[in-house]
Amino acid sequence: MIRPAKMLTELLCSILKRPVTTKYPAQDKLMPAGFRGKIKYIPQNCIGCLMCVKDCPTGAIIIKKAGEKQFEAEIDLAKCIYCGQCVDSCPKKALEVTEEFELAQLERAKLIIVYK
Ligand code: SF4
Ligand code: SF4
Repeated sequence: MIRPAKMLTELLCSILKRPVTTKYPAQDKLMPAGFRGKIKYIPQNCIGCLMCVKDCPTGAIIIKKAGEKQFEAEIDLAKCIYCGQCVDSCPKKALEVTEEFELAQLERAKLIIVYK
């Protein structure tokens, strides 16, 4: 059991400290270093090697041929676990981790992002 004197000390300390919470969403949320949000695809860099597809643990990414040396990606945000493995596996830096985390949708289909 916490004694009243200790409780009072903790209360006074807490009053003098800055809050650890932020006024989200009114205030911009700064994500911590290394945060992994939505995956971004950069088609100009892609060579269609499919390393990302092979290494993705959940089958969330599909690479399709869109023309001569042109590719497009389909990323299923409902399947993605934001592990960043595809980004690490890509030899051409065609995939990036972003800080975007507000990804909720009311329809399942809207979670499938097609990058052309
Ligand atoms: S972040 Fe992980 S789960 Fe998401 S597409 Fe890349 S490898 Fe797959
Ligand atoms: S690993 Fe990179 S270059 Fe290879 S298919 Fe995937 S996105 Fe394209």
